[in-house]
Amino acid sequence: MTRAAIDFNSPEYLDAVKVMALHRALDAVPPPQEKRREYVGASAIGGPCERSVQYEFLGVPRDEGWRHDAKTLRIFQRGHMMESAAAQWLCDAGFRLIQSKRDGGPIGFSVADGQFKGHVDRVIISGPINLQYPLIWEHKALGSKSWTAIRNRGLAAAKPEYAAQVYLYQAYCELTAPALFQATNTDTMEIHFELVEFDKAKAQAASDRAAAVIADSKAGAMRPRPTDDPEFYVCKNCAFRQRCWQ
Ligand code: SF4
Repeated sequence: MTRAAIDFNSPEYLDAVKVMALHRALDAVPPPQEKRREYVGASAIGGPCERSVQYEFLGVPRDEGWRHDAKTLRIFQRGHMMESAAAQWLCDAGFRLIQSKRDGGPIGFSVADGQFKGHVDRVIISGPINLQYPLIWEHKALGSKSWTAIRNRGLAAAKPEYAAQVYLYQAYCELTAPALFQATNTDTMEIHFELVEFDKAKAQAASDRAAAVIADSKAGAMRPRPTDDPEFYVCKNCAFRQRCWQ
């Protein structure tokens, strides 16, 4: 079979070159990589692997060559942009949301000498619906697969790490009214709302996990892996995979 010759002067070829140049131009200036946390974060501690949280906490260098690509960084940035938009939608609907304390600092918690902390997305203090104000508001921008799983199975069953984050905020901020979890489907822009009842036992379990990560880090011990298989799906996307399994 003979291959068609490429016409390097054709408009199609020249357009393709320009498109490639556009991708290169954007990829050369990706959104900034988020600063690494020198603490155990409420958003991370409910995840599937305590050891990866520990590596982050200890500031262990990520695997050589590992970095978020420009596309992933844009996805992170999209999460922040969607959160702002979603908060505005609620404001437009008559809810009052706050993000900062009177001293201007973010609303959240910081315990264990700042080694375990987190900041809420917003607190809703009033609104046109009969909810138990003030309450925690947590937003996630999700693709269809994750969004549908939460809608069908509920937050605690589908994404326990997000639920743990909410329970921690409720506990440490002493806002134990049902929280409002909102997920926006970034494919369809559908919204899922869920009122999250405070679960004291799960908040305590997440807090205990954080304490264990901090204590083992001080003692020079590593937290257990969640799997014996380096091909486990979580490990495949982990910044410490080589270090962990070598
Ligand atoms: S490679 Fe797997 S077990 Fe090791 S830290 Fe990462 S997620 Fe955890």
